[in-house]
Order: sequence, then C-alpha cells, then structure tokens
Amino acid sequence: MKLLSTELYGNSPVYLQSLLLSLREYANSRKRYGMGYYRFLHQLSGMDENDRQSEERYQDQELRSLLRHAAEHSAFYRDFYGEDLADIRVASDLRQLPVIEEELFNERIDEIRTQNGRKKRAEPEISEPGQLPRLWLNNLDLQKQTAAMDHFKKQHGAINLDMKRATFYRGDFVPIGQKEGAFWRDIYYLNQRLYSAHHCTEPYLSAVVRNLNDFGPDFIDGLFESIVTIARFINDHRLLLDFQAVAVFVETGILSESERLEIESAFGCPVRRWSMATERSPFLSECAVGNLHFNMRTGVLEFTDKGEVLLTRFHTKGTPLIRLKIQEQWMPVHCACPCGSVHPVVRKPFKPISGFLQSRSRGKVTSLYLATVQGKFQQAAPSMQFVQNSLDAIEIWLSGTDFVPPQLEQDIIQEMEVIFGEDMIFTVKGRSNGLSEETGPAGLIINNLQFPRTCQSDYSTD
Ligand SMILES: [Zn+2]
Repeated sequence: MKLLSTELYGNSPVYLQSLLLSLREYANSRKRYGMGYYRFLHQLSGMDENDRQSEERYQDQELRSLLRHAAEHSAFYRDFYGEDLADIRVASDLRQLPVIEEELFNERIDEIRTQNGRKKRAEPEISEPGQLPRLWLNNLDLQKQTAAMDHFKKQHGAINLDMKRATFYRGDFVPIGQKEGAFWRDIYYLNQRLYSAHHCTEPYLSAVVRNLNDFGPDFIDGLFESIVTIARFINDHRLLLDFQAVAVFVETGILSESERLEIESAFGCPVRRWSMATERSPFLSECAVGNLHFNMRTGVLEFTDKGEVLLTRFHTKGTPLIRLKIQEQWMPVHCACPCGSVHPVVRKPFKPISGFLQSRSRGKVTSLYLATVQGKFQQAAPSMQFVQNSLDAIEIWLSGTDFVPPQLEQDIIQEMEVIFGEDMIFTVKGRSNGLSEETGPAGLIINNLQFPRTCQSDYSTD
C-alpha cells in the first residue's frame, strides 16, 4: 500500500502508475497465486457439490486437520482445549468445544497465532484505533481462500486470470483529487483493470462507462455500491454496451430485486452476489437459483438456539479461527436448494420494523393490523406469528401448543378475511417448541415474498 502514497507514484504518468502497480501486485500475487492456489482450484473442480457424503467427508477431514494444527502450533488452543480435541471427528462434534467470544479472541490473539503464521510475517502490525487485530494468514491460507473464490466465479463462467476482469475497488491507486484523465489502472499480467470507486460518481460516470466499453471485460466484480451506480447510469441514459460480460459479481449480503434488475439490464448478464465482509466472516456465495450458500469446503458454520452464529474457518492456519462467535447475523434456511448443492443455504434475518404482509387485492398490510389481531386473541393464543410465503396464502402460527381448537381457528381466519379480503387462504397452525429460530428479529410477521427464489414453503417448518 505504501507505494501508492509516495510522490513518485502520484507524479508518474498513468502508464507508469500501471506498471508500478503491476510490479507491486506481482509481489502480492506470488503469495496469492502460488502452487497452492492452482492445486486447490483443481481439486475444487473435481469435487461434486451435490454429493452430501463426499462434501461432508471432506469438511470433517479439513476440520480435523485444522484442530490438530491448532493444538500443535497454537499456545492458546493447546491450553484451551486440553485433551478434548481427540474426540472431535465430525463437524457436529464441534458442539463439545467451548465457544470463543470475540473479546477473548482479540485479547489472546498473540497466543492464538501459530508459530507457522508468526514466522511468515515480517512487517510490524499497524492496528488503527477501533480496528480489530488482523489475522495472520500464511501463504497457503491466502492461496486456498483465493481459489475458493475463483472456483465460485468459474461456476458462473468467469475464469480469473484467463479472462478480462474489471474490478471496482476502493483505494488510492488513482489519486483521489484527480479530476480528469484515466480513473483506472491496469494490472497487466492479472488481466485486470481496476476502476477507482472514488470516481464512480458524477461527473466521471460517462468516462468510466466509455472506458469499460474500450476495455471490454469478460466479467465484472468488486464494490457493490459502485457497480449499482454505474448500472443505474447506463440504464438512465439508455447506453448500449459494446461488450458482453458473462457475469457481474457483487460483494453484498442483501441484494434487492430492483438492484438486481438494474445491474442485469445494464450489463445483460446475471449478477451473482457473494459475501465475506471481513477475514472473520463466513464465505457465502450465490448459486444459479439465487440462494446464498455457505461454502462448507471453507469451514463450519453453526447456529445456536440463542441465534448466535459460530464460525470455524479452515484456511486460517496462521491464526486458527475455531467456533468464534461472530457479530454478523445469519440464519439457516432449512431446505434443499433447487440448484442441487448440499452446502447450507443462509439468509439475513428479516427486519421487523419495515414489516408488512401483502394482501392479494388490497396491497400492503402493516404489522400494526396484525398486532391488533394478536391482541384480540391474547387470551386463547398468547403468542402469534404471521408468515407469508406466497401472495395467495398466509400462515398463522400459535406457539406453545400443537392443538388449535376449531372454533379459535375459525375466529382467527374470519378476522384475517376482514383485513386481507376473502380471496386468500389462511392456515392456522400450532407449534409446541416455541418460535425457535424465528424469534427475536423476526417477531410478529415474516414476509418471505422478498425472497422469491428460495424454497419458501419450507421456511416455517421445524
Ligand atoms: Zn442453490
């Protein structure tokens, strides 16, 4: 990073900046695209995501290898686990190990780091206030993480390094004060053109789009905000692009239907999102059906009864990350994805505040109305939840009981018909084990209409 802030870089002509950038990236990418990268990429291509048995076998094997490594090389884990590690054979055995709170992880990170991660790291650590201490990853960690990402892109037709890649990136590789000229730089031998996210704003947008046309990328990736801004600009001005990309990859957990449409109509190809906000985040990627899967070849993701998310990441041999309680909120979706992958599907919790359900003939019905219904039946059913999976039907779940008296059912349906109209189907169901995972953020109503591509009918089954 240092190179970019020097005067030498800032005062050089663009072609020289690109050359300097390429040179710097050459050193970096030797770490990233070493033999370990190619080997793992090749291995991933030979695996079958639809085969539960082999995927689980691989996951268990990687898990044991990480645990063994942690116990042998990390002073922290050696003390923390004691003899317990020998009993952990498969991912579900992880439950026997204690959860690591983020605070403890940060405090003891020096002891968590393994000798093998420590040795590789030459530069002193710069930790800015408010920033979490970095994981130290060894080269093979980095190579395998990169390969997992590139395999995901490959599944959607984009072959990194071979194909031309346009990346929207936040950084000072283009001086931030620059007002004209090129708002992009090339990394020649990676076949990549970096576009400055700082310059994905008016009045630079038309220059950026013109250059995209000149460059003609095979695929586009990088910052979600920049890509959606460019897409909106292309659509608003009805610009036709001269190139055909195979896919656009955006880094975001949530993508609304309108944003997806914006990007897809601008570039004329599918958009695929992925998520790994930090090095302590799970690697999630979208499949061809539009669901977000946790890549179980990169770790184990656990969900506790309390709604906590625990992450074990395999490619962290430099700083083993095992059962770390992470801040990011994700929920499991218990269904088989139509794409065939056995990697678990996850989603963000729903936001209760903007909550509404949809009436077939009367439009939006806010949670206020449903709170009134709940109030009416308080006596007979202390806790209710309204779940909508399709425009035609709403399920009403009563918790704490398996049995719903017919009269109560009748009364509730009648009440719903008054609010929503009579052209919908209402089903009243009971569940004895409480609201399980759907409590907390989900609360009174769950509107699954926002997630049209998932196997909705399975959302509320236990
Ligand atoms: Zn899928």
